[in-house]
Amino acid sequence: RAKADGKSTFRFFEPEMDAQAQARRQLEIDLRSALAAEELEVHYQPLVDLETHDVVGFEALLRWPHASRGYIPPSEFIPLAEETGLITPLGNFALRRACADATEWPEHVKLAVNLSPMQFRVGNIFVTVSEALRESGLAPERLDLEITESVLLDRTDQVIAHLHALRALGVRISMDDFGTGYSSLSYLRAFPFDKIKIDRSFVRGLQGNPQTLAIVRAILGLAEGLDMRVVAEGIETQADLACLAAEGCKEGQGFYFSEARPQGEVLKLLREAPRRQVA
Ligand code: C2E
Ligand code: MG
Ligand code: MG
Ligand code: MG
Repeated sequence: RAKADGKSTFRFFEPEMDAQAQARRQLEIDLRSALAAEELEVHYQPLVDLETHDVVGFEALLRWPHASRGYIPPSEFIPLAEETGLITPLGNFALRRACADATEWPEHVKLAVNLSPMQFRVGNIFVTVSEALRESGLAPERLDLEITESVLLDRTDQVIAHLHALRALGVRISMDDFGTGYSSLSYLRAFPFDKIKIDRSFVRGLQGNPQTLAIVRAILGLAEGLDMRVVAEGIETQADLACLAAEGCKEGQGFYFSEARPQGEVLKLLREAPRRQVA
């Protein structure tokens, strides 16, 4: 159709493209100023022992309260931040804020923070993490860094050297969204991760789906063989939980237990139920 209409099609789409580009540009401007004003929030989703339902840690997740649009989800602003380079200051902000917040939790409660590929390319991630730990006083052993395989896609040797250096500090490294990438298995060989997070696409509808169940079983077996811990993401129902627990998965997170919550609510939860979680 574009060919048939030639120029007219181009003109037809142009204003729409403009509006889209403009909206994106506006969002970038807003994100930049929100970051400068420290208006972004870090919320925390409980990581739960699937047997006892104890809270064993929290994953830090960025939240952007936008003046006119309400909370903008990370799925919308993280990709934008990655394209514009804003993810580096944004990610560093989340890391520092989360480390500081975690020092107010009991010592057995761990913190997981997501790192984006750009944070490995721009600046020195080892220095950034060391400084966040030193400034906050958080013990390195309490920090898990979550990376997706996209982190390992480029400059692999350098990235792996950084990961080893971070682990030498006492920090743990998790592979996030396991199973969704192109070559998850080869990355397991590239670096001995401490933890694998099974992507929530494998957890949803686990029950009653023999294929998915077979995959989850294989991941659990793989992790055991490699001496890596496993966390299941996206546990939404009692059935999801029962199925994972029956398969021997030790740890999980998901809306069944809790969504990410602000620090104030986390502290309240930890005070009221120092070891037990809502479900
Ligand atoms: P992720 O690291 O895989 O984080 C888990 C995502 O799953 C979170 O989405 C969480 O809210 C969502 N989730 C947890 N339990 C459930 C569930 O039971 N059902 C469903 N449907 N979803 C569940 P969120 O907060 O929207 O974050 C999306 C992604 O944005 C994260 O995926 C992570 O890749 C990225 N992100 C968030 N915060 C940061 C950050 O501080 N730095 C970096 N680099 N990336 C971040
Ligand atoms: Mg994560
Ligand atoms: Mg994940
Ligand atoms: Mg995910």
